[in-house]
This record gives sequence, C-alpha cells and structure tokens, in this order.
Amino acid sequence: MLSFELLEKFGHEQLVFCSNKEAGLKAIIAIHDTTLGPAIGGTRMWNYRSMDDALLDALRLSRGMTYKAAVAGLNLGGGTAVIIGDSANQKSEFLFRTFGKFIDGLGGRYITAEDVGTDVRDMEFVRMETPYVTGISKALGGSGDPSPVTAYGVYIGMKACAHEKWGSDSLRGRKIAIQGAGQLARYLCEHLYNEGAEIYITDIIDEKVKRVLETVKAFVVKPDEIYDLDVDIFSPCALGGIINDENVPRIKAEIIAGGANNQLEDDEKHGNMLLEKGILYAPDYVINSGGLINVANEIEGYRQDRAMKQAESIYEIVREIFKISKQQSIPTNTASNRKAEDRLAKIGGITQIYSASKSHNSRSVEYQKR
Ligand code: NAD
Repeated sequence: MLSFELLEKFGHEQLVFCSNKEAGLKAIIAIHDTTLGPAIGGTRMWNYRSMDDALLDALRLSRGMTYKAAVAGLNLGGGTAVIIGDSANQKSEFLFRTFGKFIDGLGGRYITAEDVGTDVRDMEFVRMETPYVTGISKALGGSGDPSPVTAYGVYIGMKACAHEKWGSDSLRGRKIAIQGAGQLARYLCEHLYNEGAEIYITDIIDEKVKRVLETVKAFVVKPDEIYDLDVDIFSPCALGGIINDENVPRIKAEIIAGGANNQLEDDEKHGNMLLEKGILYAPDYVINSGGLINVANEIEGYRQDRAMKQAESIYEIVREIFKISKQQSIPTNTASNRKAEDRLAKIGGITQIYSASKSHNSRSVEYQKR
C-alpha cells in the first residue's frame, strides 16, 4: 500500500516508521503539513488488524489535524502517531520512553498528545525523553484534562448557531438533547444549565448520567430515544458516525452542535442531507477545537484562563463558516474544509480541495477521541 503516490494523494510531508523489538514498539508517525507550524496530534494505541490499517488511520487522522488547526487559527500543522498494540496489556515505561526518543529525533516537527489508547501517564513517560509532548498533568506543568476548555468551546459554538438560526445567542429555555454524559458533556451541561436551558441527556452507563445530575437538572432518556426528541438542539457528545441514513430522518432539532469527533458517517452525503433538511450543522472539528486550543496553550506555558479566552474565537469562526456555506450554497462541513484550505493556500500550503467525504472521516476503525 505504501507509495509516494499515496503520500501525494493525502498531501503528506513525511512518514516515520519506528521500531524497537526489545521495547515491543511498532509505531508510525505521520506528519501531514507543517505550513502553519509544527505538526500536532495525538498518539493512538490500537490493535490494528494490519499495518495498512494503521497506516491509513495515521494518514487520515493527521490530515484531519491539519484542517482542525488551520480553521482554529492556530499556527500549528497536522500530525498523528499510531502505536500498533493492545493498550490493555502491552503498555510499559520502556515502550513509551523508546517512542519518546523517536519523537525527540524529529526535533520538534511533531508534537504529540494523548489519544485513544493512551493517557496522561503514557505522555509523562514520553516527556522523560522529549519536550515535544502535550497533555501532561497539571502537576508537571501540563494542561491536564482538556474537557473544560473543549466544553466551553462547544457551548460558545452552540451560541453562534443559535444566533444564526434564531437571531439571538441566548440558549435560555431552549431544549437541548445531549448524547453522552462523559467528561465533555458534564462541563457542557453546567454551562447550559446556568443559562437556563432545558437539558435532555442519555448515556449507556447510568453512573455517568448520575454524575451529571449531581450538578445540573436534566431529563434522562434512553440511549436510542435521543434522536427522536422534539428539541431545539441535538448535541452529540459521545460517538462518531451517528449522523447517518437512519438517524437524519429522526432528528427534529434545528441545530446539531456537539463535541464528538467524526459525527457524519459520510461527510459529503450526510452534510448534504442536513443542508437539504434545513438543519444547521456546526462542523464537529471546529466546535470541539477547544481541546486542541488547550494543548496548543501548553506549548507556550499553560494558563487555563488564556485557553478559555482563545476558545471564544470559535464563535466568530463558526459564524464565518455559516457565511461561506450560505454564499456558496454548500454544506457547513464543506465550507469549513474550504476555509482551512484557503488559510493554508495563502502561505503556500495545500491548494487542492479534498473531497469532503475523505477529509476527516476515519471510518476504517470504530472509535474516535480528540
Ligand atoms: P468520555 O469517554 O468521557 O464520554 C463519552 C461518553 O459517551 C461515555 O460516558 C460513554 O458511556 C457514552 N456513550 C458511548 N456510547 C454511547 C451511546 N450509544 N449513547 C449514549 N452515550 C454513549 O469522552 P469525552 O472526553 O466526553 O468525549 C466525548 C466525545 O467528544 C468523543 O467523541 C471525543 O472524541 C470528543 N472530543 C472530546 C474532547 C475532550 O476534550 N474531552 C475534545 C475533542 C473531542
């Protein structure tokens, strides 16, 4: 599968294969585009069925990071690392420190963070070998859990949607259905509750919902009922791929604005379906970019107040994407891809428009994180 043609198709600058038998390390670092700055993106550890699957995941995820950073206005490029292995029983200090040495060898062209299958502790082992890592604990000068900043960005993005749809930012009295009651949803619910929204929430784990209900009042519904509710806003905060042929006809909300990654099962098809149905969609990688803004802040010396302030820029970014979407009569997710490409093209980066369906969706594997 590996070829220069493949790299050209995805627009990648560099691929690094990392191997160390003693440490059990098999990893690929994909640097997609460094036009705007060093490539940033998480390290995913997953038991890939084949090296091709791992390679494809690294290529797609790193390209997605280029777009995310470009739209968020950050001076960072896109990168991703994948470690082939079972995160449940193949992790060790030796593995992550060895991996850290490979990252260090890139001299700052790639900055890593946690992702599916890796956590703060793993990043701290990486940190022992290289400064080019983010997402470490607050105790070690890092930014810790990005969820408060991500959730704030989603809340701000939702307000931009409300302004577009109803002419006012206010979410007071609005009925909002939240799918998932995890870290992100917990903080998001607090903002919405404080503003007087009526919250409907679901999770497949009852304990998660109970935790949210400790700080906010909300109506609890069963996981499958969330799509059918007569609400104003549907906010996916759990899984990817839930905006699909089956669910779009069920959604009554006028706005979809949530933090989950890769919400559209097929970017092109389902972006168009939402446009035709008149549902305003806040592109996921735009309104959840608070997580990236948070780790980007860590590079400059972390301050949560500054990260929160920067996350407010999501409001204007979302508004501008809606403007492009209306002017060009294109789905909002395509409009945000174009916005990213325009920014990159201005300083000599990507010039071709990638087909929307292939830009961000990583359907080869059924999990998503930041
Ligand atoms: P999390 O694991 O804390 O929460 C996800 C929740 O979704 C869990 O409680 C899980 O039980 C629930 N869930 C899974 N399947 C479900 C279903 N079918 N119906 C209802 N609930 C279901 O993760 P998180 O950090 O809150 O992230 C949520 C989403 O946002 C993920 O897609 C993640 O990639 C994305 N995201 C998060 C951040 C962040 O800073 N936390 C940043 C960017 C993107």
